[in-house]
Amino acid sequence: MHLFQVPLTKLQGVGPQKAEELHALGISTVGDLIEYYPFRYEDYRIRELSEVKDGERITIQGTIASLPSMQRYGGKSRLICRVTVESALVTAVWFNRAFLKDQLTVGREITLTGKWDQRRRHITVADSEFPDRSTAKTGTLQPVYSVGGNITQATIRKLIDRALTQYGSLIPEILPSELLERHSLIPRKEAITRIHRPENTNEGQEARRRMVYEELFLFQLKLQAYRATHVKQADGLVHPVNNEEIRRFVSQLPFLLTDSQKQVINEILHDMKQPYVMNRLLQGDVGAGKTVVAAVGLYATVRAGHQGALMVPTEILAEQHARSLGKLFEPFGIQVGLLTGSLTERKRRDILASLQMGLLDILVGTHALIQEDVFFRSLGLVVTDEQHRFGVNQRSILRRKGMNPDVLTMTATPIPRTLAITVFGDMDVSTLRERPKGRKPIKTYSVKHDMMDRVLGFIRKEAELGRQSFFICPLIEESEKLDVQNAIDLHMQLTQALPDLTIGLLHGRMTAAEKEATMAAFAAGETHVLVSTTVIEVGVDVPNATLMIIMDADRFGLSQLHQLRGRVGRGEHQSYCILIADPKSENGQERMKAMTDTDDGFEISRRDLEIRGPGEFFGTKQSGMPEFRLANLLNDFEVLEQARDDAAAMTSREEFWSSPIYGGLRDHLAREAQLIGEPLD
Ligand code: ADP
Ligand code: MG
Repeated sequence: MHLFQVPLTKLQGVGPQKAEELHALGISTVGDLIEYYPFRYEDYRIRELSEVKDGERITIQGTIASLPSMQRYGGKSRLICRVTVESALVTAVWFNRAFLKDQLTVGREITLTGKWDQRRRHITVADSEFPDRSTAKTGTLQPVYSVGGNITQATIRKLIDRALTQYGSLIPEILPSELLERHSLIPRKEAITRIHRPENTNEGQEARRRMVYEELFLFQLKLQAYRATHVKQADGLVHPVNNEEIRRFVSQLPFLLTDSQKQVINEILHDMKQPYVMNRLLQGDVGAGKTVVAAVGLYATVRAGHQGALMVPTEILAEQHARSLGKLFEPFGIQVGLLTGSLTERKRRDILASLQMGLLDILVGTHALIQEDVFFRSLGLVVTDEQHRFGVNQRSILRRKGMNPDVLTMTATPIPRTLAITVFGDMDVSTLRERPKGRKPIKTYSVKHDMMDRVLGFIRKEAELGRQSFFICPLIEESEKLDVQNAIDLHMQLTQALPDLTIGLLHGRMTAAEKEATMAAFAAGETHVLVSTTVIEVGVDVPNATLMIIMDADRFGLSQLHQLRGRVGRGEHQSYCILIADPKSENGQERMKAMTDTDDGFEISRRDLEIRGPGEFFGTKQSGMPEFRLANLLNDFEVLEQARDDAAAMTSREEFWSSPIYGGLRDHLAREAQLIGEPLD
């Protein structure tokens, strides 16, 4: 008998009424109840006062030392009593627990749980137990469930306990033993029992680890089974990649590839050789060196007789990529073209004609690439850089300009959108984990506005060393005009304050040609300082720039600050980031702290989520995010990746579809398919 077929009314103490109330929480069967997991634990383990911090929730044990006094006010009551704990006196305060008064007798032992006020040696009691009567909670971790209606915390705890006692032995294993062994996971029965009743934190964590893995694995199994039967059809382009040629291309790069880059390049080339359509996401922190990885892929498609497209979100970035790829490919006779919205009609026509005739091998551009009249002769690889700036539609339009071209999507903000894509889009994910060797962490400081003189001194010092600086003024959303004016003012101020330096200016109101000239001058080292609005946020790569100053940094979001900071630290020189922020902006300071604490993009994303909360972080567009009972997509991201690899490997084996070992998993898939109303095969 399956636990999901056992009605709740089989449990002692559950009649139709209670069953109805549980139903409102989404619990309809004993199976549901057993899998109704706590979202946290309350710690009732006894602590020593010496190790407790002010404001913490604690449990302490002592002896009642005074008769209680009671105050009543406006229908409420306050009960106060002194308790000896570890031979010192503590004041215990209960609110609205008048009924306890007679039970508080001098000399009686008591356990108190509540918030500790260090200064007043005072505990506001949330919960108390008398050891001579009960110690049900004392010393334990009590699960906390999400409850509502007439179902209280105590009720659900009791019912789950009962369900486990009555039916716990029937909990089936669902994962094959190869996975349990590979990841040292505890059996399912034990995990479910322990997740509700952990004896210690470690046990709770092991139980959770097992169930999170299971949850993510089953989820991935569904996706990967779908993919194995639908997506990995052999109707893509085969790129016959010649390793020798690739090696020759790589050997003339101005640097050695990192191991991480080599690995992801292999993953990409492997996909390109296969007859199915590559759909791969490359994620790596700012400055990790994604462009060159894309370049190798583009090189491979051209060598195989096709064309490549690279789509980026801004003109500045398009120009930069066209310039650097052009230089890289020139010795190989590979032609790189640039298509943006600001080309003259004539130039545009030329580019489009060469593209269609196959004279151009690689086209770099903004979303101008996806206009209707853009035709490739044979599009083999589509690369999108900074994918979070594009909609899913924009990317798929570009893909349709070829016959099932391979697709590589790159991002420096792996979370949050990537997460969604990983979860929904059945993409393969490659991750650049290391940055190029010799990169030093970017030293980051947060300062007040009145330290401008020192900031100017810093700029001067870097200029003397031959380095360059960025000075960013915020985008004022309500008014582009104000925003531009800000940049112009700051530019003027710096020009006056630093008369011996050359100061460039970049903002959204300049023409494309002006912007290009300004960027080119900065890239060539002709300008010492570039004053800019956030137009340079993504992708800009000038390795000689070592100082990033961000004005009014508290007006920026955390991910954006990290992207901006990523404009420096791209070469061998020590780089710095100075955040000029208002110390009175409270959550601004929280962001500044995150920035000064770490320059790891993954960690920054995590903090961003923490600060903003999932709703805002994932954005309303992601409202279709799958909900997991236990897994937290941010913290458990690595488990998700692991689960996905395991599920992909498993579903690609013939055995999975035939062997009785996997019968349980196949049944699970069939059940799920039924739930979503589509047949599996
Ligand atoms: P991002 O991942 O942010 O797009 P880029 O591809 O722009 O990073 O690379 C950042 C800088 O690092 C560039 O100047 C690039 O030439 C350089 N770079 C990339 N790979 C390496 C490497 N293996 N060794 C040294 N420098 C590298
Ligand atoms: Mg980049």
